Parts: sequence; structure tokens; C-alpha cells
Amino acid sequence: MSDIKFYKHQQIPLEMHKVKIVQQLRLLPADERLKKMYAAGFNTFQLHNGDIFLDMLTDSGVNAMSDMMQAAMMHPDDAYAGSETFFRMAAKLEEIFGIKYCLPAHQGRACENILATRFVKPGNCVIMNYHFTTAKAHITRVGGRVEELVSDAGLETESTLPFKGNIDLDKLEACIKKETPANIPFVRLEAGTNLIGGQPVSYENFKAATDLCKKYGIMTVLDASLLQDNLYFIKTREDSMKDKSIREITRMIADCFDIIYFSARKFGFARGGALLIRDETLFHSMEDLIPMFEGFLTYGGMSVREMEAMTVGFDESMEMDVISQGPQFIKYMVDELAAYGVPMVTPAGGLGGHINAREVLEHLKAEEYPAGALVCAQYLAGGIRGMERGTLSEERNADGSERIASVELVRLAVPRRVFTLSQIEYVIDRVKWLYDHRRMIGGLRFVHEPKTLRFFTGILEPTSDWPEKLTAAYKADFGEDA
Ligand SMILES: *Cc1c(COP(=O)(O)O)cnc(C)c1O
Repeated sequence: MSDIKFYKHQQIPLEMHKVKIVQQLRLLPADERLKKMYAAGFNTFQLHNGDIFLDMLTDSGVNAMSDMMQAAMMHPDDAYAGSETFFRMAAKLEEIFGIKYCLPAHQGRACENILATRFVKPGNCVIMNYHFTTAKAHITRVGGRVEELVSDAGLETESTLPFKGNIDLDKLEACIKKETPANIPFVRLEAGTNLIGGQPVSYENFKAATDLCKKYGIMTVLDASLLQDNLYFIKTREDSMKDKSIREITRMIADCFDIIYFSARKFGFARGGALLIRDETLFHSMEDLIPMFEGFLTYGGMSVREMEAMTVGFDESMEMDVISQGPQFIKYMVDELAAYGVPMVTPAGGLGGHINAREVLEHLKAEEYPAGALVCAQYLAGGIRGMERGTLSEERNADGSERIASVELVRLAVPRRVFTLSQIEYVIDRVKWLYDHRRMIGGLRFVHEPKTLRFFTGILEPTSDWPEKLTAAYKADFGEDA
């Protein structure tokens, strides 16, 4: 297990905020949950949120705003063109990142669409530490290709490596030489590397990788959607950076890049996105795409209220007491479960905890969707909704056979500032119970299988009556109403 310490408060992660507004939650009795699971076709994307106790599907667009963010929403400047709200937002981003030019977009993937549309030509290769689903989809949509060069050690699920998101510098240089710089429109580095478990990149690696790109004249792009978690990890895990402030670290990272983009559904605690561009000519070369796909250049498809809120949210993301809460809660959850023997992705990253479903349900075949089954079992055992990240999320091979995912994970996202520690304790307790009863969990099979994005809309059924038996065991231990 990792020996990486909490910031400030050793052992007990603390909420450095208090609750002022609440949303009532409902915990349906176990029998009701069983009915809802059948109604949802054993697809947790099809559940209604009102039937879920703790929604740990994602950290996107569901982070809690502060009182100051809510207050800012009361004074937006409504205008199609020239909204003062936009200029306030752009000025705040310039203050934090030191980059003058800002293009607003309605969310992170919209920024990726603009980048791919403008810069990627058929046959081009975009190099990354690791892909994100939407980033890759936009690049391949326009005929480009993605090379993922995260270091091999970063792909080991159980590890003590502090920066598993680091790009392999030798592979990066070799790849640049093989592809030639002319065929590489940009190198994209993702802070808080999402799909390998929210794993961070060190400042040293950001600097070395972008220096290498500069040597070859290649444009550098930072996906900063998960930057706030990455900042926390640099501050607490990178020795040479521990005396720097979060603002200083942010500026040092930003200085490495030509373009920064982010989803404000994560960074900024709101909903939206933006591209920041250092060079004026480069900025003008992308400008026309915003009115075409997003909206006018001073709102980019966002509500001015959200823009006011995120402007305050950016400032809050520069506070260690704010950005430490998510990673500390996640570390607490992951370490408790790992200590109990549950196979977890370690060390804990940002955005959520990840359970290695392939190992938990080693009695199931990959074609029975272990992570898909575990995520359904987790709803039956406690009303908790996680997300399947495995074979179910893949598409079939051309010959109709299953494409088996390289990792088979269940993600329990921890939206920022949303859950209390007792809710996290409840999750730990129910995951442990499920782990003890893992042999009872059977597989799933499709009843209706869409060709694309089957995990969103597919309908499945259990391969036996395991959900009934699991629910009966749960009621025997926790009672009829639990
Ligand atoms: C969520 C996310 C995106 C996409 O952002 P959306 O706002 O959901 O479109 C891109 N990159 C990373 C790293 C993300 O986590």
C-alpha cells in the first residue's frame, strides 16, 4: 500500500467546508432495488437517479458549488456579444495560467472537436500519455491516429509509483523520429490521467516532455480537465515542488504549453469548457470554429451564470484546502479497501477509486462482463452506482467476437465536495460485504445489444438467479429495509 501521506490532517480526511444546502437522498429497500435493476436492464446508466442512494457514476458536472459561486451566478451580464461575464472569466484564466487568448466552448469534448478539426489531417499521429475517450474519438473522426506512450509501469494496476500518468520520454523521442515532426500536429498531455485511474503527471515530466517537443518544433497541448487533482499530487508527492504554492505550480505547468483546454464540468466545479491559446496567430486560426459549433465568441454555448460560477471556481481550485478534499477521501476509501484485501488500483488517484473486477470475480469469463456484473451487484448491495470500465464498454471485433478490454475495472467516482466521510464509510462497508460474497455474483448477457455505445443503451439480463440470491443474503445481514 502507498505510504503517501495526507496533506495536513494525517489519517482523518476532513471536509474543509460546511453544508449549507442539502438534497434529500432516498435509500430504497433491497427488494425495490432488485426490481429497479431488472427495469434498467442490468445497465446502471438506465437507472433513475432518484432510485440511487449514492451516485458515484462520474465526477463530471456533479461537483458541489460553493456559496461564493452561487452568489456570483446572481450577477451575470446577459449579452450575445461582448458579455462582461466572458471578460471576467478570461481575465481570471489569464491571471492563473498566464495565457491571454481564450476561446469558450460548451464542454471539454467541444474543445477536442475544435483542436481535431483545425489541426489533425488524415494519416496524422497525435501522441499522448494516455487517451481520453472523447479526445481519441475526435482525432479518429477526422482520420488521425493516436499513440499512447504512458510508461509501462503506469499500466500496472497495483503499484506505489507516485506519477503513473508520466509519458515515457524515450518512447516519445523515438515516436517523434519514426513519425517525423511534420506528421504530428500536436502532443497532448493529460493531467490526472482519467482512464488509468486519475493518475497524475509530475511537473518534471511535463517539463521534460514539452522541452522535447519544442526541440522538434511540435505544438504542445495540455488537457487540464483533471488539473486540480494533479496539482494536489504534485504538491504532496513531488519533493522539489513542496515549497511552491499551488498558483506557482500551475503557472510553471502552464508555461510549458502552447494550448491548454479543460472541461469545466470538472475544473471549475461548474459546466462548460475553454481553450487557452498563447500565440495570437494560432488563436485567430481557430476562432472561426467557435461561432460555427459552439456559439458566439463570448459565451461558446455556456450559460453566463455558469461562467460567473466557474470564474470563482477557478480561484477556489488554487486553494489547497479545497483541492485536497477529493484525493484525501479517495485515498482513505482505496487504502481501507486494499487493506481488507479488495484488489484496488493503487496508489489512489484523483476522481475516484477503482476496483479490479477481473480479480474480484475471477470465476467469471470476460464475456460475462465481470465489471458490468459487479457494478450491478453494488447497486443491489447498498444502492451505490459506480461505472463499468471494461469489456462491456468496448465494441465487438469485425467478426462479432468480443474485444476483451485490457483492464476490467469498476470506478467509484467521488464528486468533489459532495459526499461526507460517513457516506464514504458506508461505501467501504458495502464494498467489503460484497467482496466477502463475491462468489455469489454471476455474469450478464445481452438481450438487446446496440452496435455502437452499447454500454449506454444496451439491455442485459443475469445468467442465473444470482441477483435474487445476493439480495436475500444482503437482507439476512442488514435487514428488510436496508
Ligand atoms: C471529462 C473529460 C473530458 C471531456 O470533457 P466533457 O466536458 O465531458 O466533454 C476530456 N478530458 C478529460 C481528461 C476528462 O476527464
